[in-house]
Amino acid sequence: MPADPIAAVTICEEIHAWEAGGAESAEALSAWVGTRLQAHEEALAALLAVDRPRTPENTLRLYDAAIEQLSLAGSQAGVLNSVAADKAVRDQAQLEAQRVSMAGSALSLNRGVYDALAAMNIGGCSPPTKHYVDRTLLSYRLAGVDKDDATRAHLQSLHEKATKLSLEFSRNIQEGGKTITATADELAGLPADYLARHQPDIEGKVTISTDQPDMQPVMTFASDAGLRQRMFLAYNTRAYPQNKSILEQLLATRQEIADVLGFRSWADLATADQMMGSAANARVFLDKLDEASREGARRETEMIVEFARSRQPGLTEIDQSSRGYWYEQYRRSAFDFDSQSVRPYFPYAQVEAGILETAARLFKVEFRRSERRGWDPAVSVFEVYEEGKHVGRFYLDMHPREGKDKWFSAAPVVTGVRGRYLPEAALICNFPGGEPGDPGLMQYNDVVTFFHEFGHLMHAILGGRTEWAGLSGFATEGDFVEVPSQMLEEFFRDEKLLQFFGRHYQTGEVLPGEIIRKMKAASSFGRADGMRTQIYYTTLSLDLHDRDPKGIDLDGIVKELYTKFQPWKWIDGNRMYASFGHLTGYSSNYYTYAFDKVIALDFFAQFDPENLLDGEAGSRYRKAVLEQGGSKPGREMVRDFLGRDEDFSAFARWINEEFENELAGTVR
Ligand SMILES: [Zn+2]
Repeated sequence: MPADPIAAVTICEEIHAWEAGGAESAEALSAWVGTRLQAHEEALAALLAVDRPRTPENTLRLYDAAIEQLSLAGSQAGVLNSVAADKAVRDQAQLEAQRVSMAGSALSLNRGVYDALAAMNIGGCSPPTKHYVDRTLLSYRLAGVDKDDATRAHLQSLHEKATKLSLEFSRNIQEGGKTITATADELAGLPADYLARHQPDIEGKVTISTDQPDMQPVMTFASDAGLRQRMFLAYNTRAYPQNKSILEQLLATRQEIADVLGFRSWADLATADQMMGSAANARVFLDKLDEASREGARRETEMIVEFARSRQPGLTEIDQSSRGYWYEQYRRSAFDFDSQSVRPYFPYAQVEAGILETAARLFKVEFRRSERRGWDPAVSVFEVYEEGKHVGRFYLDMHPREGKDKWFSAAPVVTGVRGRYLPEAALICNFPGGEPGDPGLMQYNDVVTFFHEFGHLMHAILGGRTEWAGLSGFATEGDFVEVPSQMLEEFFRDEKLLQFFGRHYQTGEVLPGEIIRKMKAASSFGRADGMRTQIYYTTLSLDLHDRDPKGIDLDGIVKELYTKFQPWKWIDGNRMYASFGHLTGYSSNYYTYAFDKVIALDFFAQFDPENLLDGEAGSRYRKAVLEQGGSKPGREMVRDFLGRDEDFSAFARWINEEFENELAGTVR
């Protein structure tokens, strides 16, 4: 046995798949992933070969090296699946992601590795190491490692089937865009730059796709109800019918896994190692949310319906496809606020610079633009420094591109490990801009999304100096992951901060305080109803995984739940379940967003509103939460930062803020 156990493992020469040609060539990508998987196997073989008493040094060290190689391969296959220009490379990246995921599920059922880890004496270890071992052993037991060989083989094939179905489901959404056509007249109400980008063809028809930047403005601004409804149906059927049967099979496969492991439902299994603990606890939480938002939502709906009737006499009800439009009209009127009016103050480059500076001050780090290149010329690279020391790197791939996915996400690129790897992470987004001459004027919500994703990014970077790869960055319980992102969103509502980077892209004028106050009043209106949309998604995600999937009536369930939580008229033909992408990653645990919102708002309430960026809370938060990565349970991090468990008081203030405002309801 060599002195350094990791010396037994192939050293990773090139940690960036694209620098090994993996962004241009499917073969190169496959070879790169193959080398990582080989190193993974070598680490496991070395671990199993240890013939001395098991210790973290001779066993956990090798297990963690195996995890590190797996996450390196998985992260970058995932990134390239989202961004590679060449379809052949994206297809290969998907296969590679599948290969990595299968290696992961094989590891999760590897009895020899489990026995080796369980045999370690961890008495004198640090708390993070103990936590790592405890958590790993728990997830082994939840995977069924203690079942007999035949059962383990069966479980593995079920996991592989679920992985394959999940990838297909996501892929169908990614590639399943639809288009609709409209006449120029039907585009009334849409912003001028949108119209400029959507010129009628020779027959006078305008083609509009279901991609976010095309779809969202139609749903918000188009005054033609028929157009909104056509877009709504196209958008909500973009992966239908193909994803209906895939989802049915996926739900059945997950339930079968739960059955084999002795759990009543997949939801109980998937929450067992989370902060939430069980499906029953999730329902208790949902009941509290329902309670906290019901009255506010009732008032909002009343205001919207009354307003819509005053504008359109004879209107009897508002349907799903018109909710966004009437909200926008109401906000313009009641708050004298047009969400288009702030866009000139938020050109992309300025927002980027502003967010970077905000985060740098808050977390006491420095970002320097790097000469390095990413997987595409459009990617910009930044190095992160702390007191002159290089502590991480991130990649910003921020605008739409042919073949790139249509989402907004933060992804690890290299999992940071103290003394071994610098943490690297990426934002993969689809914000306006990126074309020469296009200033990329962003909407309010775009900027909020940018803050959100940057919160994830900071978690990956600042949490990337743990001793173990398996504890690095996002490696908290899955249902704690949306705390840092939603916490950072709140900073965007600060007036001083907004004025610090909201400047008119042509005149340089600072975003006027009065517009900010109107914008905040307008954006806080509709929170209760918005939360009930979340409750609807959350309950759907839970219900689909907490009942017998045999003969499941997907159409019936979505309609029933929508009608229970939302006052707007259901539109028949809406197949949103077929494009509810979070069903693959979150499965039953979509409650994560709402659960973490409650925690994030409580966290944000600890910051001094007069001194958000430079007060003491920023450093304390960074130490107690971000830097920990997954070194301790989320429950402990909450208590470390708050000095208690989270409660609903900050959430209740947030959801009712709109009714405190003297502007609310004064329809002009
Ligand atoms: Zn997020």
